[in-house]
Amino acid sequence: MSAYDPSNIFAKILRGELPAHRIYEDDRAVAFLDIMPRAPGHALVVPKAPARNILDIEAADLAHVAQVAQKVARAQMKAFDADGITVQQFNETAGGQVVFHLHVHVIPRQEGVGLKPPQSEMEQPDVLAEQAERLRAALAD
Ligand code: AMP
Repeated sequence: MSAYDPSNIFAKILRGELPAHRIYEDDRAVAFLDIMPRAPGHALVVPKAPARNILDIEAADLAHVAQVAQKVARAQMKAFDADGITVQQFNETAGGQVVFHLHVHVIPRQEGVGLKPPQSEMEQPDVLAEQAERLRAALAD
């Protein structure tokens, strides 16, 4: 497995070098919206620690990411009146990983509505901004 590369896009978001629709932050993790959502409200939870994926992350950081994913999922149920939540996490190219900083996808689901294919369509910034606002409000409840 390759070493962690700090020039990846999520590391740039964490350093504030690239914008993101952030919905949650604490001392060890950040959550923001996926710019090519597979469903409305699709969020990504990333550790602040420089981990490539599940194979090199410290167990405590992984556990914390899972706790934040749970918070986000509960907020999505409220903010999107969701019927369910899909959680996905990919590791290495063969495992479907495209961005090499660990991230957990947390995706609100509606009964009978399929997911869009991965990275199929860029969402409008104003749509993401409104959804992020809704999720921040639900997370603050
Ligand atoms: P994967 O590595 O397969 O889990 O997929 C990476 C995910 O990151 C995809 O769902 C992309 O839509 C998403 N993505 C890529 N660039 C950005 C970005 N700048 N901000 C938010 N999400 C992104």
